[in-house]
Amino acid sequence: MSTKRFENQVAVVTGAGRGIGEAIAKRLAAEGAKIAVVSRTESNSARTADAINAATPGVAKPYAVDVSHFDAVQKAGDQILADFGRCDILVNNAGITRDTLAMRMSSDDWDVVLQTNLKGAFNFTRAILRAMVKQRSGRIINISSVSGLMGLPGQANYAASKAGLIGMTKSIAREIASRGITVNVVAPGFIETDMTSVLNEEVRKGALSQIPVARFGATDDIAAAVSFLASAEASYISGQVLAVDGGMSM
Ligand code: NAD
Repeated sequence: MSTKRFENQVAVVTGAGRGIGEAIAKRLAAEGAKIAVVSRTESNSARTADAINAATPGVAKPYAVDVSHFDAVQKAGDQILADFGRCDILVNNAGITRDTLAMRMSSDDWDVVLQTNLKGAFNFTRAILRAMVKQRSGRIINISSVSGLMGLPGQANYAASKAGLIGMTKSIAREIASRGITVNVVAPGFIETDMTSVLNEEVRKGALSQIPVARFGATDDIAAAVSFLASAEASYISGQVLAVDGGMSM
């Protein structure tokens, strides 16, 4: 494997201000890609872009946009394509949870999670896909979750959004397979990030007991899987779900 396998390529990573998205952005940059760092807030996207540019000057540019807003995302996509001239890799990683039992779930809890996790990925795909079709090459990787494969209590909204991503991925993969573009899903298990640090000790213990490899995942475990699916080596893989979960969902 070349350490610079993404030389002359451009990657867009959403939700790259922290956590898994930040690790993905840094990994793709370390392997030679230029990075559009997308986050909801300017300060978060700027922090990741600055960190990448400190290691490799001039390769990252920050963008602040809420992925759930269709028009704003089309504008951001146009800006990214104008700034970088192309897009080779799109990683739809931005996501949120609003966990509560279905009996208590509000309409807003449902809507905001679906709008962000599922529609957000559609919005960015819609904004970038035409450019990839023109290039006749591209990689789209959607970050789902074991929750979308297995269902988890308290996550009816989140599991629906993450399972929805899998159906969307397979449909779009079929639409553009003949154009040199692959679309795949990475489904992380329990990964140590801000999203999971808020869970109490009891929930963490319960989760650990369900993980065959007996440890929580690291953000780099997810970045490695994304990097593989984004690479030329994965050109014959499309419409697939790669669970990176220590065996949790098998
Ligand atoms: P995180 O909360 O640490 O980071 C999420 C990022 O998404 C943040 O930078 C946030 O600003 C951004 N974001 C949220 N809503 C946004 C919006 N509307 N517009 C733009 N950006 C927005 O979460 P994380 O743990 O790094 O998770 C990243 C992805 O991985 C999510 O899709 C999450 O569902 C998924 N995932 C995480 C785990 C885990 O254990 N941490 C497990 C399975 C799946």
